[in-house]
Amino acid sequence: MEIKIFPNGIFGAITYLVYDKKTKEGAIVDCTCAIEEIEQIVKKENIHLKYALITHGHFDHVYCVSKLKKTFPQIQILIHKEDMYLLDKMETQCTMAGIEDIKIPCIDGLVDENTTNLCLGDKKIKVIHTSGHSKGGVCYLIDNILFSGDTLFQGSIGRCDLWGGSMSEIEKSIKEKLFTLDENIIVYPGHGDSTTIKYEKEYNPYFGLNR
Ligand SMILES: [Zn+2]
Ligand SMILES: [Zn+2]
Repeated sequence: MEIKIFPNGIFGAITYLVYDKKTKEGAIVDCTCAIEEIEQIVKKENIHLKYALITHGHFDHVYCVSKLKKTFPQIQILIHKEDMYLLDKMETQCTMAGIEDIKIPCIDGLVDENTTNLCLGDKKIKVIHTSGHSKGGVCYLIDNILFSGDTLFQGSIGRCDLWGGSMSEIEKSIKEKLFTLDENIIVYPGHGDSTTIKYEKEYNPYFGLNR
């Protein structure tokens, strides 16, 4: 899998482009900036963008989804149904963040842990429901790469004081669903630097030995 990282999104949210080198099938993970850059790379590398995998419904992760859909009409915008309530609150989200209201992205499909038909080339995309930062927050596992949204960060975890947030749920999600994955999996979070499951198990102050 090839990954391109676009870290300059609104409020520091990261947009990822991930694609299979062989078949050139690709996906965008969250969408908050860099549509023109993505368009250039997609053209140059001849990538077929299949999905926009939305980790959760906070404005900083869907900021450019409508523009993405306009640029790539075939792309399927996917989110967990339990985060639809956040899209309905978009105007309030934007007001609270002090930004102009954004166009609510159109959603083409809903995902949950029973979703088994997503793939890039011969690599399946596994949806892991990790509530706690929001009700319908998910992580996407592709091969040995995990996109963790605002659930797990390098050395931290997502905040739980927003709508639908829960400290006990996020801790449970991470402990039971992420820390049981292969330790060598590389984690690409919604903000900040990448990390690994192994590193977070040992050093994340919310869970690690230092706790
Ligand atoms: Zn965020
Ligand atoms: Zn968030």
